[in-house]
Amino acid sequence: MLAVMATTYRCPQDGARADVTSLTWCCPVCRGPWDLDFESAGPLRPGDLPGRVNSLWRYEEVLPLSSPATTLGEGRTPLVPLTGTVSAKLDFLMPTLSFKDRGAVMLAELARRLAPERVVADSSGNAGTAVAAYCARAALPCTVYVPEGTSPKKTEQIRAHGARLEIVPGDREATARAARTAADAPGTFYASHVFNPYFLHGTKTYVYELWEDLGGRLPDAIAVPVGNGTLLLGAALATAELLAQGLIDTRPALIAVQAEAVSPLAAAFHAGAEDLLGVPAGATASPTLAEGIAIPRPPRARAILAAVRESGGTFLTVTEDRIRAAQLDLAARGFYVETTGVACWAAVGGWTDRSVVVPLCGAGLKTGLAA
Ligand SMILES: [Zn+2]
Repeated sequence: MLAVMATTYRCPQDGARADVTSLTWCCPVCRGPWDLDFESAGPLRPGDLPGRVNSLWRYEEVLPLSSPATTLGEGRTPLVPLTGTVSAKLDFLMPTLSFKDRGAVMLAELARRLAPERVVADSSGNAGTAVAAYCARAALPCTVYVPEGTSPKKTEQIRAHGARLEIVPGDREATARAARTAADAPGTFYASHVFNPYFLHGTKTYVYELWEDLGGRLPDAIAVPVGNGTLLLGAALATAELLAQGLIDTRPALIAVQAEAVSPLAAAFHAGAEDLLGVPAGATASPTLAEGIAIPRPPRARAILAAVRESGGTFLTVTEDRIRAAQLDLAARGFYVETTGVACWAAVGGWTDRSVVVPLCGAGLKTGLAA
């Protein structure tokens, strides 16, 4: 087992640090999210991969934890061509039917080693579901906060895993505030997919898998739906690591996709800003079918904007009509995907000039067909 003691949390804003064995979920100076400093056991040697465990844990050299007791066999999802240039990675084929398992297994494994009195999480649905499942696997008591209006199939799944469910009136921000208050109680591990950087070191395996499946290369562009940016920041981590290890020559463009109805990052990006633009007092997010990315104020906004710029990528937005049409179109091609997970296909499905991979990142049965 890799000792977690060798690893520390570090604030990207002010350099504050905390030991990862503490239950400190945010920077005590600025209350912002942590990054993770850890020494990789690398380098990753492609020739070593055949014959390894067929899950994301095969990339053990570059992960902050190893020899997990909480695994459910997550990762190694298929890559399937949709057109001549666009391929889909089927991340809905995960133990809890969404890509969030990649990060949730890291949080649950860390929590298992720290043995807190309780775990809390907050989510628009899929991350909470994943944390609930992996906490069940780790035999940890778990409470999940979700906003009112979360898809009933997701809340049913959270309850089925034995987690306590707290349905919070108001929007996603209200849910996050309720969870953060609970997270401050002593003995609590906050399994936050937004604040805890272990989550991003799980989602980065999405890109390591692409790299392995494409024979040591990456596509010209990687499109990801962005709300809190957990898959995007994981992708940025992976491409930086692959470059640093000399395993790729060029960085793929990161194409960040938001629902037009809730697109604070796209607005900031196209205004040339390094952080979110001011939000008028009293403003509330418009409803969108893409509930998984309806995040009005993502805490890692600065890092997300910087990552997309450094990659030479851009932000695209999609309307509700295009989300509806993309869900039907993918279903007609044999893939039943939830409304958030079709956003990238809606945005770049028509591309013909360069190779791009879109994640189909949640199962259609989680939300049903958009009305
Ligand atoms: Zn800080």
